[in-house]
Amino acid sequence: MANPPKHVNSTEECDSCPTSDGCDDQRKQQCEQEHKLKLNLGRVKYKIAVISGKGGVGKSTVTANLAMAFAMKGDKVGVVDADIHGPCIPKMLGLKGQTLKSGPDGSLSPVTGRLGIKAVSMDFLLPNDEAPIIWRGPLKMRAIQQFLSDVAWGELDYLLVDLPPGTGDEPLSVMQLMPDMDGVVIVTMPSEVSEAVVKKSVSFAKQVGVPVIGIIENMSGFVCPDCGAKIDIFKAGGGKRIADSMTVPYLGSIPIDPKICNDSDGGLSFMAEKSASPAAKAFGEIVKKIEQALENKK
Ligand code: ADP
Repeated sequence: MANPPKHVNSTEECDSCPTSDGCDDQRKQQCEQEHKLKLNLGRVKYKIAVISGKGGVGKSTVTANLAMAFAMKGDKVGVVDADIHGPCIPKMLGLKGQTLKSGPDGSLSPVTGRLGIKAVSMDFLLPNDEAPIIWRGPLKMRAIQQFLSDVAWGELDYLLVDLPPGTGDEPLSVMQLMPDMDGVVIVTMPSEVSEAVVKKSVSFAKQVGVPVIGIIENMSGFVCPDCGAKIDIFKAGGGKRIADSMTVPYLGSIPIDPKICNDSDGGLSFMAEKSASPAAKAFGEIVKKIEQALENKK
């Protein structure tokens, strides 16, 4: 697999680029896009991709709650919902029904929700929930590219990019669009089928040269609200086992909490409303670990 391009020039800069002689128009255009994207995200301190080996493990739920946990600490946060076919970040952040607005200079304004969290999503551009996106790869990439280079993100501490599940074309293209991604957070759940694919996600990150900040095990057990007993509805411990075996950090586990699902569906902030719950505390601990890992890297 090819590594993402590391050098960034615009067509205006081609004159001073020692390798531009060998570039065709397509490469020059690509350089221009990369340059534009880099400039636009110039005031973003950390860019993090949230990935998973398969769908349904709670990747978007984790992204939304990490965003809230960072924002509750006082950080400025943006979320890119790069899941073009199944965008659900707006619903989870209570932003359903909002639309993206464009400014006089042609830039798009992200939708801003509670705690000042900014977000972009395909959902903000669709006329209704039934409208499917029947686009081929290049069009989808163009949309994601615009989310990154044409949206006025301004100054942010964290930009979280919720990628489509798997290790196919789209996650790969986003990584290539953002060669300076600070790291990936990998979400899994405790079952053998999820464990098998999370290894692919770790290998994927390593192959595209993006550091793995760590693995999160979501839906990790359920604490009975009546008797307090912990029940491992699925299995437990797979995330940690894989992190150890692949020598990447383990960030922690999030238990199953029906209120997470209720609050996501209702567009409420689980983190703010149920801040004393074990799951909210786990998210709080995980953002501290992410922050520390990124600070240590500097
Ligand atoms: P993915 O992005 O991996 O496809 P989602 O984030 O959409 O998965 O989550 C799938 C469903 O599981 C959602 O209905 C969500 O509310 C629910 N869910 C995710 N994590 C938890 C959890 N820890 N406890 C309870 N429900 C959860």
